[in-house]
Amino acid sequence: MEKINRRTFNIKLTQGLAGAALLSNMPLSYGLNSGKQDKKLGIALVGLGGYAGGQIAPALLNAQHCYLAGIVTGTPSKEKEWMDKYNIPRENVYNYENFDSIAKNDAIDVVYVVLPNSMHAEFCIRAARAGKHVITEKPMATSVAECDAIINACKENGVKLGVGYRMQTDPYTQEIKRYGKEKPLGNVKYVRSDSGFIAGSWITPWRLQKKYAGGGALMDMGVYAIQCCIYGAGANPVSISAQEFKTKPDYFIDVDETITAQMKFSNDVIGNVFTSYNANGNNLFVSYERGWVELNPAHSYGPLSGRTSRGEEIKFPFQRQYQQTLQLDAYAQHVLTGSPNYAPGEMGKRDLIIVEAIYKSIAEGGKTIPLDLGDMGIVRV
Ligand code: NDP
Repeated sequence: MEKINRRTFNIKLTQGLAGAALLSNMPLSYGLNSGKQDKKLGIALVGLGGYAGGQIAPALLNAQHCYLAGIVTGTPSKEKEWMDKYNIPRENVYNYENFDSIAKNDAIDVVYVVLPNSMHAEFCIRAARAGKHVITEKPMATSVAECDAIINACKENGVKLGVGYRMQTDPYTQEIKRYGKEKPLGNVKYVRSDSGFIAGSWITPWRLQKKYAGGGALMDMGVYAIQCCIYGAGANPVSISAQEFKTKPDYFIDVDETITAQMKFSNDVIGNVFTSYNANGNNLFVSYERGWVELNPAHSYGPLSGRTSRGEEIKFPFQRQYQQTLQLDAYAQHVLTGSPNYAPGEMGKRDLIIVEAIYKSIAEGGKTIPLDLGDMGIVRV
């Protein structure tokens, strides 16, 4: 396997960008480059699957405030492969059985859990008990009760907790938030987001099993649409009703295939969520008193794209941001300097409360479920 270092990674990425000036300076207004840090946090990835290998590890090569220091894997053949590729020393390699001894390893500051959803809670709690800061992938867990257990373990052990919501630090998401805050088109009236893909034989099998995934499209992609609607509305929903559709019941036996949900927000915004494992969707539409803004794509790895009713394209002075690098540097800055946590555990828990309300509404024939979230998980940065 080819050894990749920061320089070769940069070259590979820029080659694919037609000479674009990559990894350019993030505007200070996004609050992510708030000063130089001497210390870089050592991150250990738990679960070396598609997302850890395809996105997070490469993104860490470009991070300013953290680096890939260790791995935790249940597949022995991945150990040498990753050690060679990312220069990871043997003493920073763990498996699921000896993972707790990571407590003695000062080279590891943060544990990033990238396992199937049903395993997030166990490994977040073990990481917190080992005294390590924690990042967990989305969905934060498979139930609100598990989210509570993770949050409590992090509090009890005095460690910080973040959710792998990479969109929260994406500049296009920041722009949507700015429209909500500065109101150039007036108040928000309506938000809509579609998030889905057509699942094929390539999909990892655990995603179709409730005991590993906790649910189907809603757990996997629906959380993006929920997040989009919330940062589009700039508020949390106060009620929700939902419907489920199964066009391929023989394939989606154990998990949901397609769900639509309607929300009313605390500021009287109306919202619509669509998520599916059998239809593509990747957009956010926000309607204001005097126009609209749309992102399409709205939550893929980037670059995103957007336009407004004034005929303007939403653009930034850089061609591409590697989302996971922004996400990880922002989290590292949070740990190192106390700067804002863009995706705290309360945000992940809030989204699971909404997910559970959606499943409840479906189970009760589309009944409207009231929500009492206040400002839970809303991060105004
Ligand atoms: P993969 O199936 O590709 O990888 C999961 C890894 O977990 C496996 O490779 C394996 O690693 C480990 N694992 C341990 N036990 C099991 C088990 N019983 N079954 C399967 N895998 C197991 O999943 P993804 O990488 O796609 O997803 C992992 C997490 O990341 C999920 O929570 C998902 O929702 C999230 N994700 C987030 C994305 C984002 O954009 N934020 C994008 C994609 C995924 P090993 O062999 O090292 O033990």
